[in-house]
Amino acid sequence: MKIYISGLYSGTNPQPGIGIARSLRAAYPTATLVGVEYSNRCSGIHWQDFDDIWLQRPWEEINLDAHAADIKKVLDSGALWISSIDLEIMWMANVFPDGHPNLLTPPRAALEAVAKPAIRASTGLPVKISPFVTTDLSDWDLHAFCREHDWKVWLKGPYYDAVKTRSWGEFQDMRGALSGAWSTENLFLQSHVSGYEESVSFCAYRGELLDLVQMRKRDLTELNKTWAGDVAKVSETFAAPLREVVRRLNWTGGAELEMVRDADNQLWLIECNPRFPAWIHGATITGCNIPARLVEGATGVAAMKTAPIAAEFTRVVLEVPVRPEYPLSPLPEPLNGAIGHSLKHPSGLLQFANRLHKLETDASVQNGDGETTKPQAAQVPDTFIEDLESVDFAEIQTPASLFFKNTAAELFEKAAALAGELSTDEIKVSNAYSMKTNPDERLVKLALESGFYSEAISLLEVQKAIQVGFRPEQVILNGPGKWWRKDEALPKESLYSVFCDSTEELSQVVEAVKNGELKTKTLGVRLRTPNIRSRFGIPIDTPEVFQTLVEAVRDLPGECGFGVHFHMASANVGIKQWWHLFESMLRWCCSIEALSGRAVEILDIGGGWFPEDLQKNSGEQFRRAIKLIPEFLPHVREIISEPGKALAQPSMAMAMQILEIRSFAGGTQEVVVDGSIAELPMHFFYPHRILCQDAANGEWKSLSRGRTQLLGRLCMEHDIVASNIALPETAQVGDVLVFCDAGAYDRSMSYVFGRG
Ligand SMILES: *Cc1c(COP(=O)(O)O)cnc(C)c1O
Repeated sequence: MKIYISGLYSGTNPQPGIGIARSLRAAYPTATLVGVEYSNRCSGIHWQDFDDIWLQRPWEEINLDAHAADIKKVLDSGALWISSIDLEIMWMANVFPDGHPNLLTPPRAALEAVAKPAIRASTGLPVKISPFVTTDLSDWDLHAFCREHDWKVWLKGPYYDAVKTRSWGEFQDMRGALSGAWSTENLFLQSHVSGYEESVSFCAYRGELLDLVQMRKRDLTELNKTWAGDVAKVSETFAAPLREVVRRLNWTGGAELEMVRDADNQLWLIECNPRFPAWIHGATITGCNIPARLVEGATGVAAMKTAPIAAEFTRVVLEVPVRPEYPLSPLPEPLNGAIGHSLKHPSGLLQFANRLHKLETDASVQNGDGETTKPQAAQVPDTFIEDLESVDFAEIQTPASLFFKNTAAELFEKAAALAGELSTDEIKVSNAYSMKTNPDERLVKLALESGFYSEAISLLEVQKAIQVGFRPEQVILNGPGKWWRKDEALPKESLYSVFCDSTEELSQVVEAVKNGELKTKTLGVRLRTPNIRSRFGIPIDTPEVFQTLVEAVRDLPGECGFGVHFHMASANVGIKQWWHLFESMLRWCCSIEALSGRAVEILDIGGGWFPEDLQKNSGEQFRRAIKLIPEFLPHVREIISEPGKALAQPSMAMAMQILEIRSFAGGTQEVVVDGSIAELPMHFFYPHRILCQDAANGEWKSLSRGRTQLLGRLCMEHDIVASNIALPETAQVGDVLVFCDAGAYDRSMSYVFGRG
């Protein structure tokens, strides 16, 4: 018996070749095992269980046709081939579309059915698949997906590679890196599932499930790879449907289903690998030799039984002698300024992936559905276009901020309407416009006309609100530095509400109210969010501060109502997490109420919402939250939200003109514009939808992703206002590009720079 085993890499993210060899050696002591590798730097070639090593040229150099012919000869001679390299398995599925009796890898159609992320083959198994999107979606929609899933998302490559991207910047960087490495835009973004990782490994021959085993990861490496695990039999509720799946797919070879079990005991399928896992010998130790069962099933030659030694396994690092015929490679050229040299996977798999891409005309093995879609452009509301149509571009000097009058009016109207709809007989829902987000008079006026309060973080903002027409009793004062320039700017009349940022401030404000220096209808505190880091508010999760807070609240002047404020940007922490925080805040408030004896009358939930997130599904989540309040805080009579960017962001855009177009071989372009990050300081934090006028019919169109970079006019390395966009072919110097979604901090925090 002769068995070829490929995939011998044995670093900290190992391939399974060594484990397969150890297991087969135990079952077939006299078989000839040939290790196949594509680099002499894979340390597994020195493993003693291999009788011979078949060393090939690295993947980027190898003559694939000649290699295919050699493998066919090997298989025809009666030897078996067990591949443990995903890409080699895919390539072999193309070389042997009808399989080969001695090739122990799955057929092409089966590979398509287990392709990530949809994993069609999982139908019938008691598993779920976590929500995902492909990255052909517009940046705008990808950002929404990340917010919805609390920025706990994985960006995944077509074969390997998965990175957690916790912010928009990180996402953009990693997308660039992965797209470049795999030369594809076909990545996907999948929501993280929290829980314990476990796997089922099985083997099958021509559609018959031969054996299977379950392993729970008990210890992980830095790369989340198994370091120790426990092994058990697979329950029949899982095995029975799996048997069906294997039959349906006509599976041959090893496999691993990687899963996560969540707190509700639900299994989530993360990946289905078309090969044995690297820990497979850990199962053999427990008496379950899956590779041997595969060989037995394929050849009919009985394997020696492996005696169970333990139910758990762990790993160690071993030193092994280097085979004299394959001495270590010489040291690399001295240093070149680099520090040391690392043992990255050396056999050129990335380059092989790129070669495979070029071979695969229909790309169906990678994305599972056989379609390569064009990146989609973001949708924009009709009011953007209406507003743009009233702009006379001949009259304005770019870069120019454009006020979207209809858009802004509609936003405020909708927010006011939602507050009205959500209000109940017991609890009134109100809005307070955050002045700092964009103090433009037109927006402040809209807030006033829509029945909002004005929310200010400084007395100068209070003055501005009053100038525009707010009465002091419609003003909420917040933030850590609200008494800045108190002597000149504090209104004499009563404010609506003051929220103190510390217990120190609270005692000073109580003093000021008692001696008549300050008047306010409600007095409250801002609570620091527990578990999510924040510099604001009173940190309630230390007993000492909590005690001080409770005592101070007991002491509040009787004529003021008591309110509680918290603020954490849902745009940053994610929507689910925000509502979770809301509930935990209700519990904290409930304790404060019980211990201080003062009832919370006003609950102010701050801002930080991305446009439309709060209104999602007609504010369904908000409605549920309001229902929840009386359970915890029966005396709350008003809930205030403080939208800033949710209203201001879509209300303005930044128009800029093309100054120069530079085209490079291969279709990439760099385009210099007269705008810059000085006018779009939020460019790094979230995507902006970009509109451009069609040269033929003048219609405004949203740009999709492509290979053009927009360079700002500033002589600064980081002044790139958009990367990866597609400009129309007709674009020329002088054309106007409109960056939407620039009405919040882009506007208020823009700065004058490079203008002499
Ligand atoms: C800044 C701020 C807001 C508004 O935040 P946005 O991110 O613009 O929605 C609301 N409340 C307070 C206290 C703020 O400081």
